[in-house]
Amino acid sequence: MTRDAQRMIFERFGITPIINAYGTNTRLSAGPLSDEVADAMREAATASVDILDLQAAACREITHATGAEAGFVTSGASAALLLAAAACLTRLDAGAMNRLPMTREGRCEFLISRSQRNMYDRAIETAGGRLVDVGIPDRVSGAGVRDASAAEFADAITPRTAGILHVAQPHAEPPLPEITAVAREAGIPVIVDAAAQLPPAENLRRFFEQGADLVAFSGGKAIGGPQASGILAGRGPLVAAGLAQMLDLDLPAGQFRAPAEFSALSQLAFFPRTGIGRSCKVGREEVMGLLVALRRFTREDAATRRARWQARLDAVRAAAGLEFEEGAAGEVPLLLLRVPDAPAMEARLRAGTPAVHVNPARLREGILTINPISLHERDCARLGELLRAALAD
Ligand SMILES: *Cc1c(COP(=O)(O)O)cnc(C)c1O
Repeated sequence: MTRDAQRMIFERFGITPIINAYGTNTRLSAGPLSDEVADAMREAATASVDILDLQAAACREITHATGAEAGFVTSGASAALLLAAAACLTRLDAGAMNRLPMTREGRCEFLISRSQRNMYDRAIETAGGRLVDVGIPDRVSGAGVRDASAAEFADAITPRTAGILHVAQPHAEPPLPEITAVAREAGIPVIVDAAAQLPPAENLRRFFEQGADLVAFSGGKAIGGPQASGILAGRGPLVAAGLAQMLDLDLPAGQFRAPAEFSALSQLAFFPRTGIGRSCKVGREEVMGLLVALRRFTREDAATRRARWQARLDAVRAAAGLEFEEGAAGEVPLLLLRVPDAPAMEARLRAGTPAVHVNPARLREGILTINPISLHERDCARLGELLRAALAD
């Protein structure tokens, strides 16, 4: 299928595509897929497979890329967090799986540093968990210099604690290795939300090396996979417990065979019902699209990736003929445009046809931020012209 044909599918339904210079936001459907990933999804759609076989293949691919014991493809990082929480709540107890989101044993609490609370953490509660905040984030409020400490986590662990949620950030407090040390001592699993921690590609392995038991990655962000894809990876038995709660288990119990990749499933005392994660189902198209994207992501070195993003920014700059400043968000290069009335210009760009979405993070400083990660090559020159026109208005 040509790019123009892909654009026409939207126009056939009266939808005008936007120019996405904001980023990988779900709200803006993130970036265009590479042809290779889009082709993989299209091809996958033309045959039927056993989804368990597909997830076993995904497990082999994900363990190779991450160094984790096991993994599977989810419908996003949020789904991965929900399934991770479900896995910590039930382990390989089929009765507990059948009861979620109700928990009988009282072991349903997840500790989280108060400074790491965020809108995605309700996935933990959706599974039946209860979040318990730890520490006082003085360094965030500006009242002081401290944040939650590992000792405060150790102190907060009770017989009700089912796990710890750590939201990965370069400056997350307490640092993950300190959290996993406390958790290991208490025999409690640590879930890491690493949804947006790629690149750098090293982060595919880093959190496992630092002792995480389960890690959630988004597939629709920098990996370049389908928007509704993600990864849950980690310790074999926990990953298997999470997978069991996402699969469609509508089959006679005797027909179910645990594949070697998820051998822990053979420990289930009986065959559970379709679980709480059924609402997060993922299709073969997303699984294959994500696996192809993951291979591309792990094979591309950081310099090539950066050059690809920089070329898009160079094309915007050339077409705009404006003075930009350069910025960066981790490995992602950015263009910063300082304008007299940034909020008004951002609104003008958004109201145009096509609508242009720039990153508004620095609007208050009078800066529009152009992020190349979800920007299609074909839109770069047009974006430059629209920026120049909007500034002249
Ligand atoms: C984007 C994001 C998520 C959700 O990822 P999806 O793949 O869109 O479900 C979760 N947590 C954090 C920190 C994120 O940035």
